[in-house]
Amino acid sequence: MKIVTDIHELRDHLRGQNRASFVPTMGNLHEGHLSLIRIARQHGDPVIASIFVNRLQFGPNEDFDKYPRTLEEDASKLEKEGVYVLFAPTERVLYPEPQEYRVDPPKQLGDILEGEFRPGFFKGVCTVVLKLFSCVQPKVAVFGKKDYQQLMIIRQMAQQFALPVDIVAGETIRAEDGLALSSRNSFLSTEERKEAPQLQIALQNLRHEIQTLQSSSLALTPNQLMILEQKVIETLKDRGWAADYIAIRKRTNLLAPNAEDLASKEELVILTAAKLGKTRLIDNLEV
Ligand code: AMP
Repeated sequence: MKIVTDIHELRDHLRGQNRASFVPTMGNLHEGHLSLIRIARQHGDPVIASIFVNRLQFGPNEDFDKYPRTLEEDASKLEKEGVYVLFAPTERVLYPEPQEYRVDPPKQLGDILEGEFRPGFFKGVCTVVLKLFSCVQPKVAVFGKKDYQQLMIIRQMAQQFALPVDIVAGETIRAEDGLALSSRNSFLSTEERKEAPQLQIALQNLRHEIQTLQSSSLALTPNQLMILEQKVIETLKDRGWAADYIAIRKRTNLLAPNAEDLASKEELVILTAAKLGKTRLIDNLEV
């Protein structure tokens, strides 16, 4: 595996490759990332991974400085997975001058849920992903459903800009106790780590309640969903969590379903972000 930090060198290595498959990451790799590499391998050749902790997507009070950086271990994991090139640019390579041209996703998708609590987050994500696509020029790129809203925003960006890249989704990989793998899990204390799977359990309980209501003879209403969401927030609060949101949304556009949507059995997804101590975790569950 070649580790490349320079854009021109990357292009030299990839010249003539028109079936490349790409997995962008911020490093500190775990089985979730590696599952995407395996998916990438099924969709193209060679497989390219990138590691870049993108300052643009972090807010001023977020964890950019303490985000775990483990390049050596990451590189050896990627090599074992048969990755052809690891693109690991420095900030100076990717942003040699202030990145003034940015991709601003539409408000109705970019400013809700994660975007509401992390203003500018998706602008930073879209900007770096477009730039990485331009460096790597992949045929296929793989993103995890763990970051459900991000996946949807990148899909729409690729579609609206007619980017010549297929966006493929990978399922969320979890620890045995159900906690979604995340680089931020390493911030959890031993006690918090024990509690952390409760976030997914809360979503599963909520899904069960929704399904019970859906299968009853009475029509499900948006108000009932709001009450259910609120109940989960309270339950988590009693356990020491501070939830930013628990949101039951339509899978197609992440908007709250109205009565007609519920009557026509629109497909739903539950999304959440919640803090346990200082660590903010996100998760989701399709209904
Ligand atoms: P990150 O390094 O957190 O920016 O994530 C890089 C890619 O890995 C994104 O497409 C994430 O959605 C994906 N990812 C992160 N955690 C998981 C997981 N537990 N299972 C599957 N994919 C994941």
